[in-house]
Amino acid sequence: MFEVVIGLEVHVQLNTKTKLFCSCPTSFNHKQNTNTCPTCLALPGALPVLNKEVVHKSIMLGTAIDATINKISIFDRKSYFYPDSPSAYQITQLYTPIVEHGKLEIDLEDGSEKTIRINRAHIEADAGKNIHEGDVSKVDLNRAGTPLLEIVSEPDLSNGDEVVAYLKKLHSIIRYLDIGDANMQEGSFRVDVNVSIRPIGDTKLYTRVEIKNINSFKFIQKAIELEVTRQTEAWEDGIYESEICQETRLFDQTKQETRSMRGKEEAADYRYFPEPDLLKCVVTDDMLEKYSKIPELPNAKRSRFVSEYDMSEYNAGVVSSSVEMAHFFETMMSEDGVSAKTALTWLTVELQGRFSGEINITNSPVNANKLGFLVKRIDDKTISGKAAKEVLDYLMQKDEDVDGVIDTLGLKQVSDTGAIEVMCDDIIAANPDKVEQYRGGKDKLFGFFVGQVMKASKGSANPQAVNETLKAKLG
Ligand code: ADP
Ligand code: MG
Ligand code: ZN
Repeated sequence: MFEVVIGLEVHVQLNTKTKLFCSCPTSFNHKQNTNTCPTCLALPGALPVLNKEVVHKSIMLGTAIDATINKISIFDRKSYFYPDSPSAYQITQLYTPIVEHGKLEIDLEDGSEKTIRINRAHIEADAGKNIHEGDVSKVDLNRAGTPLLEIVSEPDLSNGDEVVAYLKKLHSIIRYLDIGDANMQEGSFRVDVNVSIRPIGDTKLYTRVEIKNINSFKFIQKAIELEVTRQTEAWEDGIYESEICQETRLFDQTKQETRSMRGKEEAADYRYFPEPDLLKCVVTDDMLEKYSKIPELPNAKRSRFVSEYDMSEYNAGVVSSSVEMAHFFETMMSEDGVSAKTALTWLTVELQGRFSGEINITNSPVNANKLGFLVKRIDDKTISGKAAKEVLDYLMQKDEDVDGVIDTLGLKQVSDTGAIEVMCDDIIAANPDKVEQYRGGKDKLFGFFVGQVMKASKGSANPQAVNETLKAKLG
């Protein structure tokens, strides 16, 4: 029997305004090769200057993962030729990264937690993009020199579910810190998965295979599954030694296989050496003090929601899983007289249930203040839950004021006991025979009276008040 050993390398594009070593904008979607300058084009004589914002964001990430932040870190040159890298080297941090020895708590399906050690997070420059169109290949250098933080885990993960839990947690933290967009499809959160197997009980690490740039959680899980099967079968067939070698493999989603892309280079192949054009990266005490004050993170928020709002761990997890959800929920709760229980239902069931296509929490036609106010109107019994659904349907279409819509649709609930008493008296007077039967012991008729009053009020009477009034009057 085997166990699976996985370590992840995640490249996070930092959302700085300008590139890592020059003042070109990082915004993409611009015309090809326009966001470039002598530095990021690697023209002779142009020198790099480190962008401070990158250092600040690295300190924030380091703090969030409980890591050591090195006061001095060093840039290295990693030499390799590729058309999208005009300098023929990448500036990275091999020997002394800015962030080391961190950890991430991940949440497993069964509700337990597992700690994944993080070896390091280092700063490096992104390459440009090669674009292949038919027989022609082009190079776009707009992305060249964009800052990346490469976050490298220890091989502490044991299956695809843990990998997804780790990636989700890391993703959420980056969004909470607002240091990157972390969008997998757009390539601002790129994952390399290192996979090996070993006989259970063995502690040594066996040969790892690296699978590169898979752009969805589903495909990552699939790629792991395929790779584990390949390695296990090789072992069982007695060809592990010859078949499994340290290499970079590609996941082919159409063929549902991983296949060899290139042999894995060793550090020596890259001729690493300290970057002579840059000074050491220095983290001052002031910087450390300022940027280690980070916002509340998902786990802390979840615990606070549990105690402050008396929510279940599960529900608190749902509303703290993404920074957008958390902010939405907290904004709703900032309205006076909103109960967490009602807010939770109206956010996660009613509002989210009305999302479709491109509509989601980030561009919801009903904002958090408005939904909070609607919930307040349910909680203070101005309208019934049923009526609130109508109001929400309306608000999804038209941006209007909640109380105005309640008026327009005539949904105000009548809790005024005087008005309800009059309606009850009318119904009792109109049905003397039923009253007699009820008083004679036909209890089931009570529902009839409630129904009649509700009907007379066109559904606007507060059902609880109707019940109480009828009980008192019918005896
Ligand atoms: P490289 O840059 O050569 O890929 P790194 O040290 O940056 O090397 O990353 C190595 C990654 O592979 C780490 O995430 C590490 O945890 C993982 N890893 C190392 N050995 C194994 C192994 N035997 N099985 C699975 N993952 C491994
Ligand atoms: Mg690597
Ligand atoms: Zn530039």
